[in-house]
Amino acid sequence: MEGFKGQSILNFIKELPDDESCKAYLAKIKWKDGFTCMKCGHTKGCEKSGYTYHCYSCNHVESDTANTLFHKVKFGLQKAFCVVFKMSTSSKSVSSIQMGKRFNIRQGTAWYFMQKVRKAMKSNQKYPLSTLIHVDEFTVGGKEEGKQGRSYDFKKKKAVIAVELSEKHQVKRVYVKSIEDYSAKSLTPIFEQHISDTATVVTDKWRGYQPLKQKYNIEQKFSNQGHTCSCE
Ligand SMILES: [Zn+2]
Repeated sequence: MEGFKGQSILNFIKELPDDESCKAYLAKIKWKDGFTCMKCGHTKGCEKSGYTYHCYSCNHVESDTANTLFHKVKFGLQKAFCVVFKMSTSSKSVSSIQMGKRFNIRQGTAWYFMQKVRKAMKSNQKYPLSTLIHVDEFTVGGKEEGKQGRSYDFKKKKAVIAVELSEKHQVKRVYVKSIEDYSAKSLTPIFEQHISDTATVVTDKWRGYQPLKQKYNIEQKFSNQGHTCSCE
């Protein structure tokens, strides 16, 4: 979609060329609206290098991946993001053997991670995302050429992602849906299938969300910025 500029939420992407930037990105989402200590509930602390947060009250040091399905992933965050995307958007189920080969992860490791992802995604219509949701659109595989030795086989695809945050702004659940375009019509299904109409939904200022405001409690607060997933 020419000229479209989306907002980055789980922006896998140009700004996320490696694991380090993925970590920075998770930290940004997690503490965007401030820090709340997982151990004691204190809200004062400071962000340390290495994307951790130090609680001033109990001295607990919380990592950006703590309490997310990306915690202690051994094969790197960027690959983990790509696995989640692949699982969410493939029409056929992908085995852990295939996934392992594709991303150069041991089959057992891939299986274990995929189980975690499945569990995180299991509830959908029955348990719609219902608290604070960030919705974002992005393109995957924007760069078709130029990188050698990568076996990721994503074609250029558009997708929309819904991220549920807990009261403490921890990532609880994530849904990704591939879409044809960024029209309101294409953006609607992820809302209908996964988002409760009582949830607070935060999006960018893309006009495709406007019609959904009739039914959903949408706050369009981010400024627009383009992004493309580089896990091609
Ligand atoms: Zn604390």
